[in-house]
Amino acid sequence: MDDKITIAIDGFSSTGKSTIAKLIANKYNFIYVDTGAMYRAVTLFAMQNNLISNGFMDQTSLIKSLKEITLSFQFNMNLGFAEMFLNNVNVEKEIRTLEVSQFVSKIATISEVRKKLVSEQQEMGKQGGIVMDGRDIGTVVFPNAHLKLFMTASADKRATRRYNELIAIGDNVSFEDILFNVQERDRIDSTREDSPLVMADDAIEFDNSDMGITEQFDEICSVIDRIIL
Ligand code: C5P
Repeated sequence: MDDKITIAIDGFSSTGKSTIAKLIANKYNFIYVDTGAMYRAVTLFAMQNNLISNGFMDQTSLIKSLKEITLSFQFNMNLGFAEMFLNNVNVEKEIRTLEVSQFVSKIATISEVRKKLVSEQQEMGKQGGIVMDGRDIGTVVFPNAHLKLFMTASADKRATRRYNELIAIGDNVSFEDILFNVQERDRIDSTREDSPLVMADDAIEFDNSDMGITEQFDEICSVIDRIIL
């Protein structure tokens, strides 16, 4: 088999999808695409343009403005991964805040937003040799992916991971707020009408509540090697 395969990683919030995806991309020389960053960038755009405030979202104006949104990933050699650019501005830090996390799942319910992002994602994956993480990659973006992983972990473990990440970037957040946000996003993502978060029939489920990164990575690499060789 051609070794430029397509790997789809889906699952609940903060299950370590991106950490594993980056490691896979490095080892196999694949492109890595964090599709959550794209939904986050659209959310940031909406916030910057006063299209969301106090829980209210101006969906009609956002849909009209979609053509003004240009998203791109630019590889940062020092970090070893690609950062998210919104209209040519690096927004990698801004999109990770709790404020963006609190709105992003609502933005991700809008079909017009999904249509735009899914088609950009499919374009990025046309040549293969790609590992993409998100919520609908194995079900909608690449239903024919060679390997589909579905990551889960207990809500408590996931909130702890996200909390540590936010503290590390200097965001002053409470653990309770993070736990609520993680659970709320999962609820919205799993129950939305368009492309809900569900495990594809042919995905491999990975509960990593009690697994270290190395253990997960080794197991996943052995699956990839069996596909490629
Ligand atoms: O992956 P991350 O947690 O950064 O994603 C942020 C949010 O973006 C998710 O909670 C979900 O609402 C949305 N998302 C999505 N489809 C994707 C990726 C992310 O709906 N493929």
